[in-house]
Amino acid sequence: MTDRKTELAANLARVEERIAAACAAAGRDRGEVTLIVVTKTYPASDVRILSELGVSDVAENRDQDAAPKAAACADLSLSWHFVGQLQTNKVRSVVGYTDVVQSIDRARLVSALSKEAVRAEREVGCLVQVALDAGASGRGERGGVAPAGIEELADLVAGSPGLRLDGLMTVAPLTGEYAGHERAAFERLMDLSTDLRRTHPAATMVSAGMSADLEQAVAAGATHVRVGTAVLGVRPRLG
Ligand SMILES: *Cc1c(COP(=O)(O)O)cnc(C)c1O
Repeated sequence: MTDRKTELAANLARVEERIAAACAAAGRDRGEVTLIVVTKTYPASDVRILSELGVSDVAENRDQDAAPKAAACADLSLSWHFVGQLQTNKVRSVVGYTDVVQSIDRARLVSALSKEAVRAEREVGCLVQVALDAGASGRGERGGVAPAGIEELADLVAGSPGLRLDGLMTVAPLTGEYAGHERAAFERLMDLSTDLRRTHPAATMVSAGMSADLEQAVAAGATHVRVGTAVLGVRPRLG
């Protein structure tokens, strides 16, 4: 193995151990939690290695970086997630390679995605991104919509051709009542998911937890964790 492959294999094994331990502690089956590796800022060669090491899902947050990477990895059988704030002028490109957009936060984005998904004859999975720190504006510092806005967006996604409502996503807030209380934040997300599934029973995905707080997310009931740093290393620049 190359040095990088050895390094990524060791990091992946450590993350896998953490997920398995968190599942065991919560009395959950390991199969209930999917690891998504966040490859933002890292090269296509790393994505290729991760695929060789058995990773099935990767995530990116900027179309400029993601589009060429996805093109370079088009021969791999990977699911691509988009987890960044998404401008409507990037939607056409993103729809070209993304299986699930996890950052649905406004109606205009839903209509743009629907239009491009239909044009590309693709079905795009959608998660409504929930901002647990949303202020009066109804929007969060790190993207997302306030809990009160979930239902409207979810209904819109569910009724839009080319789109599939898969569930909810959140990033643990750095401000507001949940700052420093990741477990409580993720439990709130689970409650919101329970509410959502009353009207949209198939929207079972709950995406929560990153390198620093994946245990809390698994304990709360997350179905997907998004891990970057713990697998790939500290990012060379903000991303
Ligand atoms: C970067 C990022 C992650 C991964 O964060 P790490 O701390 O590197 O594990 C997860 N989710 C989102 C939305 C991100 O932007």
